[in-house]
Amino acid sequence: MQAASQYVFALVLLLATYFIYKRAKQIIFNIRLGQSYVPEGSTAGRWKNMLLMAFGQKKMFQKPLIGLMHFIIYAGFIIINIEVLEIVLDGLLGSHRIFAAPLGQFYPLVINVFEGLALGVIVVCVVFLIRRNILKVKRFTSAEMTRWPRLDANIILFVEIALMTAFLTMNASDNLLQQRSEASAHYLAVGPFWISSMLSPLLDGLSTGALLVIERFGWWFHIVGILAFAVYVTYSKHLHIFLSFPNTYFKSEEPVGRIANMPDVTREVNIMLGFASDQGEAAPEGKKFGAKDVTDLSWKNLLDAYSCTECGRCTASCPANLTGKKLSPRKIMMDTRDRAEELGEYRMVGIKDPKIEANTLLDQYISREEILACTTCNACVEACPVNINPLDIIVQLRRFSVMEESSAPGQWNAMFANLENNMAPWKFAPSDRANWIEKVNPNT
Ligand code: SF4
Ligand code: SF4
Repeated sequence: MQAASQYVFALVLLLATYFIYKRAKQIIFNIRLGQSYVPEGSTAGRWKNMLLMAFGQKKMFQKPLIGLMHFIIYAGFIIINIEVLEIVLDGLLGSHRIFAAPLGQFYPLVINVFEGLALGVIVVCVVFLIRRNILKVKRFTSAEMTRWPRLDANIILFVEIALMTAFLTMNASDNLLQQRSEASAHYLAVGPFWISSMLSPLLDGLSTGALLVIERFGWWFHIVGILAFAVYVTYSKHLHIFLSFPNTYFKSEEPVGRIANMPDVTREVNIMLGFASDQGEAAPEGKKFGAKDVTDLSWKNLLDAYSCTECGRCTASCPANLTGKKLSPRKIMMDTRDRAEELGEYRMVGIKDPKIEANTLLDQYISREEILACTTCNACVEACPVNINPLDIIVQLRRFSVMEESSAPGQWNAMFANLENNMAPWKFAPSDRANWIEKVNPNT
């Protein structure tokens, strides 16, 4: 019976590992659809950014209470993994609480910390469910938060509550089994576990057999749930749990708000102004300005899209969105990820479906109206807790529309002509710029 349980456990573990590997391969392939990218700045600076933003959750603490609640879930996830390691080893080796002997008197202390975190996670998940579904916080209910994104967020919160409840129930029955002489040979006296022991009175009247069933059910539910959760996360916005680390590490250390120049255009302007010679290397034939599809964006843009938590902080601070325009920076990131998924899924198996190849990020996913509404204010970039840059994608799509298709709005074209001819957006010659002084003070 014990050996059969070990085989079943090994099989479940193997299956979960296989599905995670398969999905991780697809995600890496999709991200690599993007163009090359080299982050600016030092390695030390990027490590620092990662430790502050992803590990230290710096931006989350701009709202201290929400930051603290998010930190409890995050710490619960990270720290309880140590407990998962024990469960995995027990499952494979047929042991029970394998870390109890090496940790000695520290073992109950460690389990009590886990239990404290588990309770904290349950409370925070309930609060988050209330915020999303009863208080209906605006950024969780806006247009792009359609059925699946809303459901995804709720599924994760319910699953976390179920997993933590299973963990506490398992420990509550274990507490009692440690005191039953017929089970004490296997359930060694390693308690007490404080929080779960508060649940123990509810189970105290049950027979030892029933307690064994509950303890085993809690154990299996907890670990199979965690493995299923790990697979599910790779299809969910909760992928940010993992990807926020590389995403913050690969963020460029360029000055905030700087919009990247296009080297070929800079070169042409420098030649025009006499700052450079035209003897150098010309732009490669057929080179595209800006981006029309995910394959024109950089792999960092696509990593950004996969790291998006769909929290909506960017959209909540976007002046275009706040004044009723169609633009939502969160939707820009969600659309970019969806298009990378659509294209990558086919390309990975070597199929080039003409219908899917003909789709593009611009127009099929993101409309012209959206990209034209952006004021390039950078508020979305500032607001993002995981250093995502929706503005960079918007600018690249807009560059394509303006420079490759000449399809800028009429007023913009007039402004471009003025910039070219008058070196200012206004419709008068540079020599007339000071004319207004004469009108204000005719004596000058
Ligand atoms: S840069 Fe554009 S998308 Fe971002 S907040 Fe400003 S207007 Fe909105
Ligand atoms: S881009 Fe950043 S701020 Fe916007 S929804 Fe995604 S994670 Fe949140």
